[in-house]
Amino acid sequence: AEDASERLIEANEEALRFYLAVFRTSAWSQDYLAERRLDRLTQTGQEWHIGYAPDSWSALIDHLRHHRFTDEDILAAGLAVPTQRGYLIDRFRDRLMFPIRDLGARTLGFVGRAHTALPKYVNTRATTVFRKSELLYGLSEQRDALQAGAIPVFVEGPSDVLAIGSLVHDGPQRWAGLGLCGTTLTPRHLDAVREVSSSEMAMTAFDGDVGGRAANRRAFPLLLSRFAEVRATETPRGQDPSSLYAAERGDEVLTGVLNWCRPLASLLIDDELRRWAKVLDHISGKINAVRAVAPIVAGLPRGQIAYEVARLTRTLSLDHDLV
Ligand code: ATP
Ligand code: MN
Ligand code: MN
Ligand code: MN
Repeated sequence: AEDASERLIEANEEALRFYLAVFRTSAWSQDYLAERRLDRLTQTGQEWHIGYAPDSWSALIDHLRHHRFTDEDILAAGLAVPTQRGYLIDRFRDRLMFPIRDLGARTLGFVGRAHTALPKYVNTRATTVFRKSELLYGLSEQRDALQAGAIPVFVEGPSDVLAIGSLVHDGPQRWAGLGLCGTTLTPRHLDAVREVSSSEMAMTAFDGDVGGRAANRRAFPLLLSRFAEVRATETPRGQDPSSLYAAERGDEVLTGVLNWCRPLASLLIDDELRRWAKVLDHISGKINAVRAVAPIVAGLPRGQIAYEVARLTRTLSLDHDLV
């Protein structure tokens, strides 16, 4: 099994070499990075290794066969899809390719971002080494920064990781964006982060939309079980870290949003209170709102409970005794 995994990783490493070699042939891929001001990082920071999968049914398969990989290897590596007729086609076609690597910087699989096609994101199929419930985009590349104390910041997409990684710091890197392949954070992700980071604080910087809010709600208990302090950005509606960074004075804007993060509990409580806003001038409405936020508050460490209760008391203009 060791040998099989080894072979599979070699196929992915060769795929990465291929994707890097053809990157220059894709105008839109370069535009995508340039429009987001991510090109500086990908030119200077060689470690990011962003590639391109050409618009072809078998360009990668042909390349891998040429390098003596069997069809079995290619399938096991999750890089090809079998057709009903029994031949193989490339899994990734006309996509910007972000490698996902282990802590030894070996490529285990990819996230492929389409130009305009749907679905926008395709990942490597689950293989013996590519398990997206364990892997985070950017962990391998930012291992040193995390070891040196950068705060882990969980984000949704690879461009968000790159935007945070593009911020220029006077001293050591303050934040390390870590991309979920989707919006589901798992205990295994946190185990992986814990291997390289001893940060007492973790953050989320999910999108300012319904999906991002749901991701925050789901991630909250898990993050709280592993980090003493859990904060979240207030990403403006319709934005994400990458879009903030791409805008005019994006460095300042994104830095500001990351700096002004609040306790994730406060964010979730305020979300909940907004749903009760219309009835908050009645005592029964206030009681219902308190009931709704109680589970969020109850899970907090002692010191933070006092803080949230004080905030609630103020917001709802309650007598402290009621809370
Ligand atoms: P872009 O900035 O390149 O347009 P985005 O990540 O900002 O991409 P969104 O419009 O926010 O895209 O929505 C894409 C959705 O796909 C998000 O909900 C995000 O969580 C999800 N997603 C991001 N990366 C992956 C991935 N590797 N696999 C599956 N889903 C992903
Ligand atoms: Mn989104
Ligand atoms: Mn987004
Ligand atoms: Mn985006």
